[in-house]
Amino acid sequence: AQKEQELRLQKLATTDELTGAFNRRHFFELGARELARTARYGTSSCLAMFDVDLFKSINDDLGHGVGDSVLRELVQAIREQVRTTDVIARIGGEEFVLLMPETSIEAAATTVERIRSAIAERRFQDVPAPRRVTVSVGLVAPLPNETLGDFLKRADSCLYNAKEMGRNRVSLEPRAPHG
Ligand code: GH3
Ligand code: MG
Ligand code: MG
Repeated sequence: AQKEQELRLQKLATTDELTGAFNRRHFFELGARELARTARYGTSSCLAMFDVDLFKSINDDLGHGVGDSVLRELVQAIREQVRTTDVIARIGGEEFVLLMPETSIEAAATTVERIRSAIAERRFQDVPAPRRVTVSVGLVAPLPNETLGDFLKRADSCLYNAKEMGRNRVSLEPRAPHG
């Protein structure tokens, strides 16, 4: 019983109540650990930052309760497309990150594009047709010895580009030239 209570408390401390994703604080712990591991073993892990498009209008038109339901279903939709070892966290109101350990940027781009299109095509339970929910995504791979803060900052600036280019899209950094 004591063990069960411990697990319950740990879950409370690490997850976001609304969506069941990890919370921001726990993501910073896991993310720092993963970056250190990446640096030590020279493996690749990628980070995607998601932001719901025009979410304010979903709240305004359909109500805050529907907005909440969309956030919950969104995490579900992401979960359906990723590995159980991938980390999904809610880092802001309608902003989420997906950390993909041991994943090349090419494989991560394929996964994230699949998530984007699955969301855009999904009939969200509480969202009346023909309205759709879309997300914009910034995707990055870590640079050598990069801090988690800088890693997130680059993901955020890719996300910003995705918004600028018209939303409902994935944006990566320009590819470094070979050689
Ligand atoms: P953009 O495409 O540029 O991201 O537009 P946006 O409307 O999504 O951007 P903005 O940042 O203006 O709006 C985010 C909204 O998310 C505003 C805020 O009220 C809402 N929000 C934040 N947290 C929650 C939540 O937990 N539940 C609900 N229903 N809404 C939330
Ligand atoms: Mg936002
Ligand atoms: Mg938004």
